[in-house]
Amino acid sequence: MKKLIITAGITGSRITREQTPYIPVLPEEIAISGIEAWRAGASVIHIHVRDPRTGLGTQELSIFKEVTDRIRAETDAVLCLTTSGIPGRNLPVPERLQPLALQPEMVSFDAGSLNLNQTVFLNPPEFLDTLARETLARGIKPELEVFDAGMIHTCIRYAEKGLLKRPLHFQFVLGTIGGMPATAKSLLHMTEILPEGSTWSVIGSGASQLSMCMMGMVMGGHVRAGLEDSIYYSKGVLAKTNAELVERVVRIAKEYGRDIATPAEARKILGLT
Ligand code: ZN
Repeated sequence: MKKLIITAGITGSRITREQTPYIPVLPEEIAISGIEAWRAGASVIHIHVRDPRTGLGTQELSIFKEVTDRIRAETDAVLCLTTSGIPGRNLPVPERLQPLALQPEMVSFDAGSLNLNQTVFLNPPEFLDTLARETLARGIKPELEVFDAGMIHTCIRYAEKGLLKRPLHFQFVLGTIGGMPATAKSLLHMTEILPEGSTWSVIGSGASQLSMCMMGMVMGGHVRAGLEDSIYYSKGVLAKTNAELVERVVRIAKEYGRDIATPAEARKILGLT
C-alpha cells in the first residue's frame, strides 16, 4: 500500500478563542503547534497566520515569515501556505499572494467561489489566473482545494491551458456549508473524475473529520486533520492540540496497515522538486 500523507491544518483564519481556548493564534503558538503536528506524523503543515491584535486571519508576510522560519528551523515538513486570506472577507489579490514570496513548496489554490453562511468566498478567474501563473513561475505546487465537483473541471481546464502543471494534487474539502457533503458518494464521485495520475487528499469539515480521514485512508488517498477543520476531538470534547488529532489518524492507519509518509516520501509522492 502507498504510504499515507497526513496534512495538518493548524489554525485556519476564522476560529476564535471564544469557540475554543486551544486554537493557536500567536505566531509562536502556530509554529509550536505545527512542529508538534509534524512530530506526531504530519508530513505537510498547512499554515494560516493571525493578526496578533485582532486574532483574525491575515496574509501579512512578516508574520508568515516568523512562523515558517521557526518550523523550517526545527522540522523537515513540507509547508503549504494559504492564499485564501479570510474566506468571506475577500482580501485583495496581491495581499492573498504575499506568502508566495517565502517560496513554500506548496500553496493552497481554492478553485472556485462558494457561499459560506451569509458571505461569499470569492475566488474569481482573475485571482485563479494570477495565482496559477505565479506558482508556475516560482515552481510552487498548488494544492487544489475543491469544494464541489465543478471545481475539479475548472482545474482540468487550467491544466489544459498550461496554467497548472500535471500531475495535479487535489484537496477535497467536504462537509462545508456551501460545498459537497462529507459522504462516501461525494468522495467516490470526485475521485472518479480526476485526471489520470492525479493525487488527492480529503478534509472532512467539522464532525466529519475522522470519517473522511478513515475513508480517504482506505480509498488510497491522503488525508488532512487538525483544528482548522474541527475543534472537537469527539462529540462535545474539544481537541487540545493539533498533534492529538494527527496521532489518532496515525494510530488508525497503523492498525489498518498503511504506513505514514515521511516528509521526504511525501515530496516524492507529490512530485515536489
Ligand atoms: Zn486553510
